[in-house]
Amino acid sequence: DPRLDAISRAIRVIPHFPKPGIMFQDITTLLLDPKAFKDTVDIFVDRYRHMGIDVVAGIEARGFMFGPAIALAIGAKFVPLRKPRKLPGEVISESYVLEYGTDCLEMHVGAVNPGDKAIVIDDLVATGGTLSAAIKLLERPGGEVVECACVIGLPKFKVNSKIKGKPLYILVEPT
Ligand code: IMP
Repeated sequence: DPRLDAISRAIRVIPHFPKPGIMFQDITTLLLDPKAFKDTVDIFVDRYRHMGIDVVAGIEARGFMFGPAIALAIGAKFVPLRKPRKLPGEVISESYVLEYGTDCLEMHVGAVNPGDKAIVIDDLVATGGTLSAAIKLLERPGGEVVECACVIGLPKFKVNSKIKGKPLYILVEPT
């Protein structure tokens, strides 16, 4: 897809953020490029528009920057998966292990119904731990995760990779 080159080039890399040694992939520069931003959303929309998707679940915070546009375009609900103590209503939670310590995602009770077909969207997949927790959250009320989608993924995820048995779709590799 000829659009992917420009999408990749629109993502800025910031060395040593948030700590030494990390090459941070910064998608805020992609958001500053209306053509590349729209192409990114369009690629996901074209992929998911005829799959009968009920739910686009976005992971805080950068999944919130792509998920709602995709949800609106395909006629699905948008469900935010948030860090602890952000959602005001009754929640279910999934903890997951990080390199140092643990983290947690929460989802509102009632956001997903049994049988809902869902995709999960985030900016970047590294180990897949965050997406695994998101899949578990969506499955607890009976949601069916069709696929996980990320703008950026390591080359090892490029072909036919799965997270908890679910396909993973990525657009570009980190540079
Ligand atoms: P994982 O759980 O190891 O797959 O890490 C993915 C999570 O870390 C996602 O929610 C990303 O937003 C975040 N993340 C890790 N590295 C980067 C980066 O370089 N840029 C933006 N987000 C990152």
